[in-house]
Amino acid sequence: MSDIPALDPPRRTLMGPGPSGADPSVLAAMGLPILGHLDPEFMRIMDECQTMMRRVFRTANDVTLATPGTGTSGMEAAVMNLLQPGDRAIVGICGYFGERIAAMAARTGAEVTRVTAPWGSPIAPEDIERALRDGPARLVAIVHAETSTGVRQPVEPVARLAKEAGALLLLDCVTSLGGEPVDIDDWGVDAAYSGTQKCLSAPPGASPLTLSPAAWRAVQARETPANSWYLDLGLLEAYWDSRRAYHHTSPISMTYALHRALALVLEEGLEARWRRHERHGRALQRGLEAMGLALHADAAHRLSVLTTVRIPEGVEDAPVRGALLERFGIEIGGGLGDLRGRVWRIGLMGESSTPGNVLYFLASLGGLLREHGFAADTGAALDIASGGLNP
Ligand SMILES: *Cc1c(COP(=O)(O)O)cnc(C)c1O
Repeated sequence: MSDIPALDPPRRTLMGPGPSGADPSVLAAMGLPILGHLDPEFMRIMDECQTMMRRVFRTANDVTLATPGTGTSGMEAAVMNLLQPGDRAIVGICGYFGERIAAMAARTGAEVTRVTAPWGSPIAPEDIERALRDGPARLVAIVHAETSTGVRQPVEPVARLAKEAGALLLLDCVTSLGGEPVDIDDWGVDAAYSGTQKCLSAPPGASPLTLSPAAWRAVQARETPANSWYLDLGLLEAYWDSRRAYHHTSPISMTYALHRALALVLEEGLEARWRRHERHGRALQRGLEAMGLALHADAAHRLSVLTTVRIPEGVEDAPVRGALLERFGIEIGGGLGDLRGRVWRIGLMGESSTPGNVLYFLASLGGLLREHGFAADTGAALDIASGGLNP
């Protein structure tokens, strides 16, 4: 017997709000030889990542890079660089991640106007319009796929309003990129960031980020340096562009994983990938309803990649989630904030969005709910869901 611990993580079916499962080739990419962060071969790999990120974001933006760190690092880079003291920021808040953007924005010394909606609905564009009419704003920020509620935020009307008012639009695409339609240039989004472990299906650790020419000008025109040295976009861009100025040691293996994950997205094709997520997400949702459960998010604004379902009366959250994990190896998420104990969050992101996962989850959940006294109709759920899984 040794007192040196073994590293032996179990194999899980990851169906929570992230991380999602990763393709074996993405994990294998992390085992490739380490290069120096200024090695010409590594520079080529970074350039290829940049080109693939532009294609996945659907943008021609020069300033497109990956910040070192999880999705929150992209959020912090965008917020800290686009806002300075005295600016006004309008933040759409209808879930946990909108709150996080507002909390960051407040730390820049900007004046933050909170535009809210109930947790389960998107922000109404008219409410953003009203806030814009109240006075000039530097930035409007919204979350495209609110992972805490399962709601998809319509982007184009908000982008138009921001543009008319001379404000920049910041979009959180952490959960949507690679799973839900995202079209940065066509929609007129000025700044967007994502994360690797949701629908891009790589391990957590990098945040693809892109800035329009207008957003980049705003960053360059700052009177004071951004409130973060590590996430200073001027310094990061000087490393990612042809200057190759050392700023930090790139997370080399993570960059390989990002490269392989982006290549998989493009090999599948963005539109085919969106259709796959849509098909599996809708099949899951119809199956849950057929089982006798109620979905939480507004019917017209439901994501396909993340579903919130209400925990039925009389059933406790933790024992069911615990049994899913222990007995079936399935991870799902509990509710955040206001929805704690009230909903479960089921992700079908990237590699985790498969017909097998939909059926396996419904069968496992149905059985557990019956054990906990809820008369789940598992047969109906499986019938309905499997009918929706055919391409
Ligand atoms: C997961 C998530 C984040 C934060 O990403 P981390 O990788 O956890 O830092 C931000 N925004 C949304 C919408 C998310 O789902």
